[in-house]
Amino acid sequence: MSDHSRSQSAFAEARRYIPGGVNSPVRAFRGVGGEPFFVERAEGAHIWDVDGNELIDYVGTWGPAILGHAPKAVRDAIMEAAAKGVSFGIPNPYEVEMARTICEWIPSVEKVRMVNSGTEATMSCIRLARGFTGRDLIVKFEGCYHGHVDSLLVKAGSGALTHGQPDSAGVPGAFAELTITLPFNDAAALKTLFQAQGSKIAAVIVEPVPANAGLYLPREGYLETLRQLCSEYGTVLIFDEVMTGFRLARGGYQERCGIKPDLTALGKVIGGGLPVGAFGGRADIMNQLSPEGPVYQAGTLSGNPLAMAAGLAQLREMERVNGWAKLEELGAEFEAGTRAALKKAGRNYVFQRIGSMFCLYFTEGEVWNLADAMRSDKAGFARYFHACLDAGVYFAPSQFEAGFLSLAHTHADLEKTAEIVTGALTA
Ligand code: PMP
Repeated sequence: MSDHSRSQSAFAEARRYIPGGVNSPVRAFRGVGGEPFFVERAEGAHIWDVDGNELIDYVGTWGPAILGHAPKAVRDAIMEAAAKGVSFGIPNPYEVEMARTICEWIPSVEKVRMVNSGTEATMSCIRLARGFTGRDLIVKFEGCYHGHVDSLLVKAGSGALTHGQPDSAGVPGAFAELTITLPFNDAAALKTLFQAQGSKIAAVIVEPVPANAGLYLPREGYLETLRQLCSEYGTVLIFDEVMTGFRLARGGYQERCGIKPDLTALGKVIGGGLPVGAFGGRADIMNQLSPEGPVYQAGTLSGNPLAMAAGLAQLREMERVNGWAKLEELGAEFEAGTRAALKKAGRNYVFQRIGSMFCLYFTEGEVWNLADAMRSDKAGFARYFHACLDAGVYFAPSQFEAGFLSLAHTHADLEKTAEIVTGALTA
């Protein structure tokens, strides 16, 4: 049994000063039981906790670490930028370079604004869509998580799901009433809703590949139907690509599926590990933002030079090494290892993967929406999670989170992981 005494005392102290001992709920391990470990340092695909235990990491700081932890290109860029000043609140060249890169890479983005988190990006998209259309209703999908925005904490995924609190206290009923939720992948339900209320709907926000209730894919034609209905009724279609942007392709999932949303929310990979988000899209909609237009949106630290430099360095490095093709290869290798482990252990569980994102559901059959995902054996997952962690592999501490591969994962890492996964599934 490895030593966890330092993590345990750090957590005891943290709980005295921080609610639940954490600055974001899912970190508290409530979905799997036990206590979180505290990190000492992280490099490449590995993490060392404060007790000296080494782990192979498949969380990657929840998505941003696409090159692995602390990549040299990103560290150098931060140091270089910091030497010139850490924040200005004055326009700076980094911001323009970032905006130009996003507009060139993401097919639907003509103009973009930087913010400090994914939550800010989706929140701003919603306000902008309402301002642009003059309508109030918004539509989201069960199990999709778009950050802790009041109007979007309705039947939300991620931590909100793990903790059994899909509807947060503190969200006025009047806000929630303006949010309509639908099951994902149900085209008939979409059509019925639009026929009844389409002309009152400001926006539909969707994770085109939902990855906050595990991971499931859109059925063929589903996103096309969504695009078509939004166009027909003058509703703003928002793709939340905070997780999938720059990860599933250079231009996000929209490049792969060939569908152009009106607005896109971005985060995670774009910041290289620093606190960054962005939202962008059609110029006629983006031009409604202050100071050009009447929709207010602002930020003291938005476009921060360190964050821009870190993000740009990460994006350029991905492009330089053609990271997306390499991640696909690593993903396929990881998938083969996991499927072999399932076979050896005699389990028929559902393994889903797209590129470098994956989820092992502790259930059989197919998973296409939240209801399917909820069939999972959460206690079984918790035992599996802890067995992997004890053996040196860190997966996300919840059945309802996706896993991430990075360019820093080696064949040796994947081989060792497959062994550990086999052992954990067999036990
Ligand atoms: N949208 C999606 C799809 C996300 O996965 C997340 C966070 N996991 C967010 C929005 C919110 O981002 P942040 O935590 O940076 O506010």
